[in-house]
Amino acid sequence: MGVYARVQIGSVQVIALNRLDGFSSGNFSQLNVADYVGDDAENVTKNINKVQSLIGASDIAVMSAEHGNNVIKVSQGGKCLPSDALVTQVPNLALLALSADCVTVALIDTQSELIAVVHSGWKGLVAQVLQTAIDSILASGSQRKNLVAVIGPAICAECYEVSPDRVAKVSEINSAAILDSRHIDLCAGIKATLVDNAIRYEQIIGCTFENEDLFSFRRADGEPTGRGGMVVCLCTDEESS
Ligand SMILES: [Zn+2]
Repeated sequence: MGVYARVQIGSVQVIALNRLDGFSSGNFSQLNVADYVGDDAENVTKNINKVQSLIGASDIAVMSAEHGNNVIKVSQGGKCLPSDALVTQVPNLALLALSADCVTVALIDTQSELIAVVHSGWKGLVAQVLQTAIDSILASGSQRKNLVAVIGPAICAECYEVSPDRVAKVSEINSAAILDSRHIDLCAGIKATLVDNAIRYEQIIGCTFENEDLFSFRRADGEPTGRGGMVVCLCTDEESS
């Protein structure tokens, strides 16, 4: 029903989405939340509304990823300015990061109302978007010991064969993300950054390429495909929790 896995940390809900039980059809079947892949706009809106109700939020802010390291603070719902990390301190405002093979990471301050979501593929590893988001959260007053991360499903290293050139680019910045001369392990790179920052994490296991309930850009093999992702919300509204 749209939920691949749900993690609760205090009052914060994190949902990794699957592609089941949405309004879209064809390549976008069914729960596509991206409005830039060729899907019917009305169906995308209905799917995003469904995600909002799945998590019990009163509003939802949707990431516009650009594979960089821009971090933005969000205080209202709707489509966000281009960035790969959203941060909010507004209860009941859900943050949605889109992906189809890239990693999504929720960051939660267990002692305040701050939550964040980050999107990273190999370019995000090179741009160090997760580190930039952590730095931003720490600068806004959070303490490392109060932070918990939740890592979403992503393409696994065995399924992610790339050019040696791409491996070299990632290796320069994040050597933990290198499985071998042709394979990048996105989740290992993310975990290494979390460990370096002494931030605890949970991982939602799963390979987007192997699990057909999840959208995978690579499995689509050049055909248009949808995006799933991760949604996170500090839900204080008891009716909807
Ligand atoms: Zn795999």
